[in-house]
Amino acid sequence: MGHEYCGIVEEVGGEVSTVTPGQFVVGSFFASDNTCPHCRAGYQSSCQHRENVGANGAQAQLLRVPLADGTLVATPDVPGSDLLPSLLAASDVLGTGWWAAVAAGVQPGKTVAVVGDGAVGLLGVLAARELGAERIIAMSRHESRQKLAREYGATDIVTERGDQGVARITDLTDGLGADAVLECVGTSESMSQALRSTRPGGGVGVVGVPHGVSIDGQELFYSHVRVQGGPAPVRRFLPDLIDLIWTRRIDPGQVFDLTLPLDQVAEGYAAMDERRAIKTLLQP
Ligand SMILES: [Zn+2]
Repeated sequence: MGHEYCGIVEEVGGEVSTVTPGQFVVGSFFASDNTCPHCRAGYQSSCQHRENVGANGAQAQLLRVPLADGTLVATPDVPGSDLLPSLLAASDVLGTGWWAAVAAGVQPGKTVAVVGDGAVGLLGVLAARELGAERIIAMSRHESRQKLAREYGATDIVTERGDQGVARITDLTDGLGADAVLECVGTSESMSQALRSTRPGGGVGVVGVPHGVSIDGQELFYSHVRVQGGPAPVRRFLPDLIDLIWTRRIDPGQVFDLTLPLDQVAEGYAAMDERRAIKTLLQP
């Protein structure tokens, strides 16, 4: 599909007014006008005029981005190559991890658990730290990912899953459960784990695209847990994320641990599928 993209503007349509050729821009997987009621409420990925840019295939030399004024955010200048991985991350995995933290209701001083140690989960850890979480529990079984999670702010690592994973989190939180849990996987097991790891009154941010997930109504009802999620409104966060990257406060680009030329895209996917790489960066 090719969700993420950033690059130099080559040409703009006649009605585009805020983006000009030569600028470096970052967009997100849904194009949005950024003016309709849903956009103004901060839900650009539910824009009344949204178009799926990812489906157009952003893994290419050139990409047509609809609704350019609303979709694209320009960087202050053309970035050096060292900033490219982080700006590319802002386009999806960082924006999605950030959304998971916001949707879960992460706040200063709170305890957060992150289910999933892919790029989104790891950047959810980073987002939780930036939003002021005091304790961040990352659930991961892979040593290299645990290391990056710690670098991004994880204070505890839990390797157990399922019932045992829930028990560990309950244990680490004095029997309460976490204030906010980021569900970054999308399986039935991970969703159940997230819901049962959250304390009453806490929130779960769901960003893992659900596959075969069903939630038990009774269980949800009696849990007193708030659930919000969906495709990340990355556009809401892009200006702030670009600023954090530009000022080098955050370095989300570290999730790209494999760089390949565009024509080796199949190997890039295979490496991620076999968990040899967290995330592949393709160079046009
Ligand atoms: Zn809109």
